[in-house]
Amino acid sequence: MPELPEVETTVAGIKPYLIDTMIERLVIRQPQLRWPVTQGIEDTAKGLKIENVSRRAKYILISLTTGSFLIHLGMSGSLRLITNTDLLKKHDHIQMHLSNGHVLTFHDPRRFGCWLWSKYDHALLEKLGPEPLSSNFSGEYLWNKARKRKAPVKSFIMDSRIVVGVGNIYANEALFESGIKPQRRAGKISFKRYEVLAENIKVILSSAIEQGGTTLRDFTNSKGEPGYFEQSLSVYGRAGKACVKCNQPLKEIRLAQRSSVFCRSCQS
Ligand SMILES: [Zn+2]
Repeated sequence: MPELPEVETTVAGIKPYLIDTMIERLVIRQPQLRWPVTQGIEDTAKGLKIENVSRRAKYILISLTTGSFLIHLGMSGSLRLITNTDLLKKHDHIQMHLSNGHVLTFHDPRRFGCWLWSKYDHALLEKLGPEPLSSNFSGEYLWNKARKRKAPVKSFIMDSRIVVGVGNIYANEALFESGIKPQRRAGKISFKRYEVLAENIKVILSSAIEQGGTTLRDFTNSKGEPGYFEQSLSVYGRAGKACVKCNQPLKEIRLAQRSSVFCRSCQS
């Protein structure tokens, strides 16, 4: 599943090809995504200039002169740039033909992604918490939000109303690095430990973005779809294997239906 680092890398990869170009044609081949593609956007978008491409949480925003597209990659979505003569692949649902000859192509086999148009701010962005890499996000912020909360800390940091973009992998890894048990109640964790946790979330996400930027991929490569990058992970997907710090076998539990892997001796 594309996580925040993949989305950030996608934005960085496609942005230079999109900015200041004009949409010549928008082709919707399959409007039935997670939510139906806004009706009539083919006509609305035609001739509009792309002013910016940005990311908010795991959404990609393509800002045009009179509104914006809000794109989510869902479970299996990707964006790539091809040319007019490249062959379409199965599950290439949307194509945006640009005045510079590039064609931004949205590919999504499972169709949990979305591609929505709005003239104004998108309602889906309204209740989102701060970006984890922004200065608004800190240990102090987390600690304040956690007062009286009984939810497990892992669910707390994965709640997009608290902070966006901390997916299951990153929550597992950040809690391990911070020595905090995933099931510990959010309200019972000290200020100091939240400072460590916030810092680790930032470090883990930044390094994933950096890795994506260097190892990833050519967005103008028509052959493959951009692969999601593999990271070196300490706990996620390593249940039963030895802890990288103490060699004890890692334990796995389910929290809010999500796999949570931790070390019983390194995390408390
Ligand atoms: Zn350990």
